Amino acid sequence: MHDRDGLIWHNGELVPWREAQVHVLTHTLHYGMGVFEGVRAYETPSGPAIFRLQDHTARLFNSAHILGMKLPYDRATLDQAQCIAVRENGLRSAYIRPMCFYGSEGMGLRADNLRVHCIVAAWEWGSYLGEENIKNGIRVRVSSFTRHHVNATMCRAKANGNYMNSMMALQEATRDGYDEALLLDPEGYVTEGSGENVFLVRDGVLYTPELTSALDGITRRTVMALADQVGLEVVVKRITRDEVYIADEAFFTGTAAEVTPIREVDGRPIGSGTRGPITERLQSLYFDVVQGRDEAHCDWLTYL
Ligand code: PMP
Repeated sequence: MHDRDGLIWHNGELVPWREAQVHVLTHTLHYGMGVFEGVRAYETPSGPAIFRLQDHTARLFNSAHILGMKLPYDRATLDQAQCIAVRENGLRSAYIRPMCFYGSEGMGLRADNLRVHCIVAAWEWGSYLGEENIKNGIRVRVSSFTRHHVNATMCRAKANGNYMNSMMALQEATRDGYDEALLLDPEGYVTEGSGENVFLVRDGVLYTPELTSALDGITRRTVMALADQVGLEVVVKRITRDEVYIADEAFFTGTAAEVTPIREVDGRPIGSGTRGPITERLQSLYFDVVQGRDEAHCDWLTYL
C-alpha cells in the first residue's frame, strides 16, 4: 500500500505517497487512540463527487470529541483536504481515508505533550466484498467475539482501537470459509458486521438494530431515508440471532460494502438464499443516489 505514486494530505501539506511516514513511537500505533473515516467518491455524469462528505467529517469530529481529542483543523479544512486528495491524485472514483492520531511527541499512557496529526489518503477501491457478492450475497457467521460493551469502548466513535474487535471477528469468519462476521452485543443481541451495519426484511418491513453497540453508519442512515421515501417501514429494535435466521432477506450497509446482500448465516439460507427483491430495490436506489442519477439527493454529493 505504501509503495505507489500519488500524494497524501498530511497536516496541511501534500506529500509524495512514499514519504507520508511516521515514527515507530507514534502514540496511536501503540495504544490505538485515534479516529478515522471511510468515505467514497463516485464517478457521476457531472464528474467525481464525494458522497455525504460533511456527514462523514461531522462524525470524525464527534469521534474525536468522544475520545477527548482536539482536532487541530476545522471541518471546512478537512472537507477541503478530502476534495484535494481525490483531485490531486486524478481519481474519478475513490475510497478516502481521513485519520487523526497522536504523534511520537511522548510515550506511555500518561504522555501529556501529544500533538494530533491528520492525514487524508485517497485511492481507487472497487467493490469491497466483490462484484459477484454485491449481486448474489455473502455468507456470514455469527462471531464468537462479542461487540464492545457501551462502557468499554464506545461505538459512536469510529476509533482505531475499536477495530481490533472487528479484525478478530473477521479473521475468524474468513478462516472458517465465510465472507463476513456478524457480531452480538454482551447481552447476545445483534449489533453489526466487522465494518457494516445490518438490516433484515420480514413481511415487507425493514428491521435494524439500535445503535447501542453499533456505529451510526451513514449508509444505514441513507438506506433508512431511501426506504422511507419509497414507503417501506423501518423499525429500529433489538434483534436476536434467531430473528436473523428466519428473515426473508438480510443485507449489510457500509461505505465500503455499500449495500451487500446476505444469503446465508451460520449455514442457514436467508429467505430464498439469494439477493431478495427489497434488498435489490434499495441497492439500486443507493447506487442511483451515489452515482448522481437521483436529482432528489444531489445535496448529498460534493462535486470536485
Ligand atoms: N459499522 C462499522 C463497525 C463500520 O466500520 C462501518 C464502516 N464505517 C459501518 C458500520 C458502516 O458505516 P458507514 O455506512 O458510515 O460507512
